[in-house]
Amino acid sequence: MRVVRNLVVILGDHLDDASLALEGFDPLQDLVWMCEAPAEAQYVWSHKARIALFLSAMRHFAIGLRAKKYPISYRTSEDQLLPTLVENLERDIESIKPARIVMTEPGEWRLRKDFESISSDLSIPLEIREDTHFLCSLSDFEKWSRKRSVFRLEHFYRWMRMRTGFLMLSNGKPAGDRWNYDAENRSGFGSAGPNKVPITIRFEPDEVTRAVIQEVEERYSDHPGSLDKFDWPVTREQALLALDDFVKNRLAEFGQWQDAMWEHESYLWHSRLSAALNLHLINPREVCESAENAWRLGHASLPSVEGFIRQILGWREYVRGLYWQHMPAALNENALGADRPLPKFYWSADTSMNCLKQCIEGTLRTGYAHHIQRLMVTGLYALLMGVRPREVHEWYLAVYVDAVEWVELPNTLGMSQYADGGRMASKPYIASGRYIDRMSNYCSNCIYKPNQATGAQACPVTILYWDFLDRHSERFATHPRLGQQVKNWQRKSEADMDYIRRAASLLRACS
Ligand code: FAD
Ligand code: SF4
Repeated sequence: MRVVRNLVVILGDHLDDASLALEGFDPLQDLVWMCEAPAEAQYVWSHKARIALFLSAMRHFAIGLRAKKYPISYRTSEDQLLPTLVENLERDIESIKPARIVMTEPGEWRLRKDFESISSDLSIPLEIREDTHFLCSLSDFEKWSRKRSVFRLEHFYRWMRMRTGFLMLSNGKPAGDRWNYDAENRSGFGSAGPNKVPITIRFEPDEVTRAVIQEVEERYSDHPGSLDKFDWPVTREQALLALDDFVKNRLAEFGQWQDAMWEHESYLWHSRLSAALNLHLINPREVCESAENAWRLGHASLPSVEGFIRQILGWREYVRGLYWQHMPAALNENALGADRPLPKFYWSADTSMNCLKQCIEGTLRTGYAHHIQRLMVTGLYALLMGVRPREVHEWYLAVYVDAVEWVELPNTLGMSQYADGGRMASKPYIASGRYIDRMSNYCSNCIYKPNQATGAQACPVTILYWDFLDRHSERFATHPRLGQQVKNWQRKSEADMDYIRRAASLLRACS
């Protein structure tokens, strides 16, 4: 039997053959180990497209490694899999008897703990190598944050611009003499709607993906979502084509329409690159470089490119740092004491509220919704309704193709649900139906009226917005940005207040 020096474990979101886990790999002594453990598709009720994307990308990656003569032990359902990664790895370690396990930093706290337990239970050394797919290492984030009592995205982002040089001038100043073009990047389409939305590049499922799709349809038939429109990039080559397509055809208008929404238009000018980034098919550095080059060549304006780079260099790196700093406690935070179950329509889109219907239908059809749909429609409604943050988190982790816990959890619990009490966002992202009306055409095709909080056509989002201010008035009365909204609530007539309170409790009872 072959003696194995390093068993290199490659997880489904570490699909990069230039990763440090494969550094120094010796095909004569080392072995790659990959596994399609069923529990990874089941620990939240995963969308079929999310399962298919991970499995297809893993299989393509393994084919690529084999072509480069890497020896691999790749476990599929044909190998009589045990449910979890840990169980399968333990079983294989007993037969392979490697001297050491090597891997890249896992993207989930749960998995990191699992691998540490295997290492100590089986007395086998575990070497966790840095994940170079990020532009800020966890230790650098730790050093940066240790110096601060309050740390907001904006501080972190400027620091990242300075240390990476993205959109910086040779005199050390930001390009255009401004760090932030947010004010230019928040337009709605108005009643005319979007003009000529570019068609995004599609990746027709090849033989490998078709086999995965069939398997997912059979084995996970009761899971949510559809595979009919599956067209996600599943290889590095496809991810690079998707990046090129975005930079050529959508980046120039990305900034302006970043927050806008429109019926039946899921992607608009968004990049659709999050899943490829999170699976490590492409690197954030090459994505930012490509966007910056487009600006330097005059193909896209600075506000648009800055708006895009901020998401990747700023938000994406920032939420990862926060995740590792605050797990596992973050998982159970619930600063606002929310105690309601997630409304059932989150799994079916069966609701009369058009904004929620559109966003959830799109999510179930494609496994995608853009940031404002997640934050200011589905997230907003759960926050206003007072849904238990953990249930909201489990929904987001299940239904999006790009969902990996290090990025999903802080966005959901911190940014969207304020469960961390303000660590990530200085205030809860609350709004009435008027915001949704300004940013989309959802309200024009809805049976409710966004500006009404009372009466037969009162908008549920608006009712719950006022009710939120009522329920949390004490907490936010003196808040610099929410205090005025609390005062607006307190100025309402007793009759309106009474109506809104009763309507809100009815909405809760019916959800
Ligand atoms: P674009 O709008 O084109 O943005 C470009 C890139 O910037 C994205 O691909 C992504 O990598 C990055 N980015 C943008 N916003 C964020 C952000 N807030 N945090 C981290 N990175 C960001 N993103 C995920 O990748 N996985 C998740 O599971 C996830 N869950 C979310 C849950 C909630 C409640 C919210 C509010 C946001 C979540 N996001 C998540 C962030 C964001 O919504 C998605 O990254 C984005 O919608 C992906 O689409 P896109 O690639 O077209 O992004
Ligand atoms: Fe949503 Fe209210 Fe607008 Fe209807 S009126 S789409 S419920 S915000």
